[in-house]
Amino acid sequence: MHPLHVVCSLGHIATTDELFRRGASARHIRAALQAGQISRATRGVYVCQHADAEQRQAAALHSQIACVSAVHRFGVWCGLDTALHLMRPADARGGAGARLRVDAHGHDLHFHGAAPRFGRPGTSWLVDPVEAVWQAIHCLDEENAIACLESAQHLKFITPTQMHRLCVLAPARLHPGIREMEDTADSGVETLTRRRLRHHGFTVVAQGQVGASAGSIREDLVVEDCVALEIDGRQWHGAAKLGSDYDRDLMVEGLGRRALRLSYRQVMFDWQTTLATIERTVADALRLRNRRRGRRISGQNEPWW
Ligand SMILES: [Zn+2]
Ligand SMILES: [Zn+2]
Repeated sequence: MHPLHVVCSLGHIATTDELFRRGASARHIRAALQAGQISRATRGVYVCQHADAEQRQAAALHSQIACVSAVHRFGVWCGLDTALHLMRPADARGGAGARLRVDAHGHDLHFHGAAPRFGRPGTSWLVDPVEAVWQAIHCLDEENAIACLESAQHLKFITPTQMHRLCVLAPARLHPGIREMEDTADSGVETLTRRRLRHHGFTVVAQGQVGASAGSIREDLVVEDCVALEIDGRQWHGAAKLGSDYDRDLMVEGLGRRALRLSYRQVMFDWQTTLATIERTVADALRLRNRRRGRRISGQNEPWW
């Protein structure tokens, strides 16, 4: 097999051993290097042009991408941590890299212990999924760790059996949150919003149905049965989606509920203002509903003659 194909098929990084095992000889590797098809990231590790900066950094340090950096590659929630989390396999060559805490470009590096907790080695450059989630829930704070677990479950990043084992073995600080976990959130931002509002004392139903008949829609969260929240879990919100968002808002309002749309930024960086707005909207909606009900009840009690 051609060295470039081997490197690409293994995720754009391969070790000399992996190349040899797949039939590439030393002569093939030399030729691919000379042709510029692959390059040497460090001794015994080769990358192709598709390898990204994190992969090249991991390869240069004889490490695997781990923890939040590993789960992030698969779209699993990892909070706001921007450091590159790495694990050095026990048999890694070289020692200097292990002490590095900031790379040449000023990016933070976070090294994890060499022994995988679950004994699963992963690939030459990426830790095993269950190991990555296990590391992430230790590095993340409580709310982001629970959001990471819900996200891993929702995206089927790990199996239900692996999830159960992780939850049983998880640190005690996460046990109350684990008992509250549900598989309703499309994004980590939605998990954070649902849990924060419930802990604030609100009744929050996830994926509540707004409108019982044909044309009904699903809202992400319904607060106190009167305010529907639509959460945009992504950091960017394209103009193309805005048209359908407006349609949805109009429909929810038409069905008698208030609708609020929350962005990634509002939840992650401006929660106090966002919470105050939700509180006021819920209070207004409840007052309006009680007034309507009061009018209906007093209407029923009025003599028909
Ligand atoms: Zn490639
Ligand atoms: Zn970590």
